[in-house]
Amino acid sequence: MAVFKVDNVEDLYEIGNVLGSGHFGQVREVRERATGVLWAGKFLKLKKGAGSRLGLERKSVEKEVEILQSLQHQNIMAIRDVFESRAEIVLIVELIKGGELFDFIAEKENLTETEAIEFMKQILEGVNYMHQKNVAHFDLKPENIMLSDKHDPHPDIKIIDFGMAHHFIQGEEYKSLGGTPQYIAPEIINYEPLGTAADMWSIGVITYILLSGLSPFQGETDEETLRNIVSMNYEFEPHFFSQTTNMAKDFIQKLLVKDQSERMTAEECLIHPWIKPLNRTQIAKRNRSSINMKNFKKFNARRKWKMSFNMVSACNRLCRLQILCKARGTEQQELRDCESDQEDTGTKPASLLRRRLSSSS
Ligand code: ATP
Repeated sequence: MAVFKVDNVEDLYEIGNVLGSGHFGQVREVRERATGVLWAGKFLKLKKGAGSRLGLERKSVEKEVEILQSLQHQNIMAIRDVFESRAEIVLIVELIKGGELFDFIAEKENLTETEAIEFMKQILEGVNYMHQKNVAHFDLKPENIMLSDKHDPHPDIKIIDFGMAHHFIQGEEYKSLGGTPQYIAPEIINYEPLGTAADMWSIGVITYILLSGLSPFQGETDEETLRNIVSMNYEFEPHFFSQTTNMAKDFIQKLLVKDQSERMTAEECLIHPWIKPLNRTQIAKRNRSSINMKNFKKFNARRKWKMSFNMVSACNRLCRLQILCKARGTEQQELRDCESDQEDTGTKPASLLRRRLSSSS
């Protein structure tokens, strides 16, 4: 069992504003008292007991910490320290000030493919590094791709949230049902043995969205989205891809491949001509093509709306729980437990719980 520091985190760090929220806690800005340096603190609530439905298993947090500690790369969020109390674990991590990549892009008037590729390349470099170390992220999506500093003319990509990541041991068979419907690979839906290729599928989906503002498999419901993925039901609608190069479409097509072993790896992506052009003609084509900004802005606005909607739904469920608890005369302690239960599975199919439900044999 990993041992974390038992000091009170507040003795060493001053706790500041909330930067974001996840399913099991908040991320807040923290200032190291000794040096004045700013970090981010990820506060994760732990399960009270084996039978408890609320909070995270300690071993699940241990896994996230061990994976983060094993990865040191410019494009992956760094971890500095870990503190543990009875009820929660606090991860002190690199503060990422630039917000989400998609929000940064949506603020622009236009973006050439060449500019988009600069970001894709950094994502691929981070992913290639973790795959070389036999780590798969398993939750690559726009919310988990951030920027170091949006005022920097060349900001660094930072991949965050390794809560579903897995370190493969040779010969091990690993299956998981976790993920976010729009971005998950068919092998996850089919509960097949997984590998790092599942991340490459998600990169294919992210690239498709980035260029067109359309989500390739999105259905009216999550069930329909999953059906579209399994049946490989996607196309490049000419109306939305009129400004896209054939090289970009080829790149996506080599990622949205059902057979995991046929899918392009991160290493192969980095030498695909769309990312690394072979000649001047290819460079010129990329410079002339641009992303479908009008539709991308629409996609991003809908995505943000959905995220706030999910947050409000979670709050509403919490209020209903609190009213119920009160009606039953439940103790304050149990009300606090209700508060930490932010798992938003209500809108997801039963077969795909959001995270950290996996098995390995
Ligand atoms: P989820 O339940 O979605 O998996 P989580 O509990 O694992 O989430 P994260 O996704 O790691 O939490 O973080 C939640 C949010 O906090 C992020 O979407 C982001 O907005 C913000 N955030 C996370 N890490 C950092 C960081 N290092 N610096 C700044 N903000 C961050």
